[in-house]
Amino acid sequence: MGASQEVGRSAFLLNTDKTLLLDYGIKIFGKNGEAEFPLDFNEKTVDAAIISHAHMDHSGFLPNLYTFSKTRWIGTPPTHDLCEILLADSMKIMGEKLPFDQSHYKKALKYWIPAVYERPMQVGKTEIRLFDAGHIAGSAMIELDYEGRKILYSGDIKLDPTRMHDGLKYDEEVDVLFIESTYSNREHPERKEIEQQLIEEIEETTGEGGTVLLPSFALGRTQELVRVIRAHNKDVPVFVDGMGKQRKGQPIIQQVCKRCGSH
Ligand SMILES: [Zn+2]
Repeated sequence: MGASQEVGRSAFLLNTDKTLLLDYGIKIFGKNGEAEFPLDFNEKTVDAAIISHAHMDHSGFLPNLYTFSKTRWIGTPPTHDLCEILLADSMKIMGEKLPFDQSHYKKALKYWIPAVYERPMQVGKTEIRLFDAGHIAGSAMIELDYEGRKILYSGDIKLDPTRMHDGLKYDEEVDVLFIESTYSNREHPERKEIEQQLIEEIEETTGEGGTVLLPSFALGRTQELVRVIRAHNKDVPVFVDGMGKQRKGQPIIQQVCKRCGSH
């Protein structure tokens, strides 16, 4: 229903003995800067939705399921908690452009079924297992087993370990693989080298009495940056602001300023 050969609005319908929806995302900035949603279909036919992770291109359209239908959705606890923050934020940004409102958002949070990595769940005759995708907190690859045939839907994946995650874990044979390929034709530089470069630039600037400003995505990247800095340098004061320090309204990273004593 979206995201084939494009980035954004991931949504796939899979028919086994049940109708399963794998991800339900939005493209916040599509063509001409306009938001793009998944293709239209009868949402009432969905028996269960399974959300791979909380990024809006995979979960941003979830509240729309609750405009008419009362289906349940499956995801890990971090996916639920991060959706709560990110959906609220995207509704603030997009407001009236969205076809759903606060009541549908609240309903979506309520109709969640928690999933634990690798523990099987059953929807009709389809067995579902989620595996750590190594991408962001709670991110999962979705394995579906139906009548002896195995399908793996990767969602977004990360193979190598980072300062936040261990890299994906999966070692099963599958019959069909749906795999994301955003960076499949690009070589990334070694993480170690990039870290070293960043730390050198930070130390050069702070060594001259300067202040380093690091703009960053709130989810995952901000926390990883703090960890990278702390792994190399225990002394440089780090201040975090914005959505990146939020967890259900609570700041998760705080440090007292050595100079003025403020948080
Ligand atoms: Zn993602």
